[in-house]
Amino acid sequence: MELQERLKGGLWGVIVGDSLGFPLQFKDRQRVKEEIPSPEKVQMVSGLWSDDSSLTLATADALANYGPSLEKIAENFVRWFYEGAYTPTGYAFDEGRTTTIAIENLRAGLDPLSSGLKGDWDNGNGSLMRILPATYWAYFKITDLREKLNFIHQVSAITHAHPRSMLGCGIYSFFIWNILDGLPKKEAYEKTLKEVQDFYSSDERFKKELKHYRRILSGEILQLEEENIKTSGYVVHTLEAALWGFMKFNSFEEILKRLVYLGDDADTVGAVAGSIAGTYYGLKSIPQNWLEKIERREFIEEIINRFVKVLLS
Ligand SMILES: [Mg+2]
Repeated sequence: MELQERLKGGLWGVIVGDSLGFPLQFKDRQRVKEEIPSPEKVQMVSGLWSDDSSLTLATADALANYGPSLEKIAENFVRWFYEGAYTPTGYAFDEGRTTTIAIENLRAGLDPLSSGLKGDWDNGNGSLMRILPATYWAYFKITDLREKLNFIHQVSAITHAHPRSMLGCGIYSFFIWNILDGLPKKEAYEKTLKEVQDFYSSDERFKKELKHYRRILSGEILQLEEENIKTSGYVVHTLEAALWGFMKFNSFEEILKRLVYLGDDADTVGAVAGSIAGTYYGLKSIPQNWLEKIERREFIEEIINRFVKVLLS
């Protein structure tokens, strides 16, 4: 598959997954079941996308225009939050607590390396959901592995600076890079486990966080049934759910429908899973009737196409 097809698939995957899950966000599984009889019946309701997509587009736009500048990414986050840039509605909504405080810190003059929060309770999925453009950037534009991961960690840390959040973005990035290399699912997964152990075991700050991802890093996640998968806003749960669905189901459509049907933080689980599945299956795998419903489609398309062009140049 052409790289262009994968990159556009991953970026549109964020928007489509976010939009598909958004109406089911905060509903528990029982309530989702009462509303929709089965996952096959999940539909793209309105095409309204939220913070996950906004911050992904803000990051892609900054990277396309200015290269790897944390300041420019942070500036776009501030514009999103206070001016409603990169939104379908003209105002920011659905933002998490950690992201809100970090952006207030930026607005107050802190630099992007000190704006993010570092507490144990600052490990929501708010950086994982928007990290894809940085992951792509590192793949194409940075050669040294340590520098690649350092960039990923720093982009996470603009809002989420706890090592557990940064590690989640790192595991995710290794996996995406293996998909971009063209590996099949199982090989990509196995290679990722090895790379994560090799890279993070030598760094005390991250090494002690590895245990939180043990269900992913032991491969246990591949054996689990749906009732053991949580879809809360915790970064570990979100990465687990996205990887579980991606590995278990066999098309973009099925992965996304099955995952958002689990409710709770459905838009972000959808966004993260959409980014992985879209990178793997490509843009053509995303149902056309979902894409057609997306709000501000031309606005999104312009940013994605420009960013992908820069990545491949
Ligand atoms: Mg959201």
